[in-house]
Amino acid sequence: MFGKIVSGEIPVEILAETDRVIAFPDMNPQAPVHILVIPKSTAYDNVAELAAAEPDTLAEIVSVAQQLAAEHANGEFRLIFNSGATVGQTVFHVHAHVLAGDLEERSLVGS
Ligand code: 5GP
Repeated sequence: MFGKIVSGEIPVEILAETDRVIAFPDMNPQAPVHILVIPKSTAYDNVAELAAAEPDTLAEIVSVAQQLAAEHANGEFRLIFNSGATVGQTVFHVHAHVLAGDLEERSLVGS
């Protein structure tokens, strides 16, 4: 489904883009700043698969997350990769949730 976002079929506000990754706001935000960072490749369901196959792309996701947290909050952020349906993953195209802003009193994504 995120493949349609990468291809432009589903329009989103692109907040960051590199050759390998894009970032856009989560449509159901759980924090003052809630951004998804995903690889453009549709080949990986979860972060473990991505880390094994393309560690540089995973590092780029972390770097883009840091940059977005600096742009949209105070540079501090929580990075979550739900990996598996039983822990709350609903979209099986690996994605990092970047949560930033005041997270006090807020529950974790997926709870
Ligand atoms: P997961 O539960 O798989 O870790 O997270 C999937 C996330 O993707 C959810 O937070 C959900 O709100 C978000 N999401 C699902 N579909 C879309 C979409 O079409 N556009 C955007 N912007 N976010 C989406």
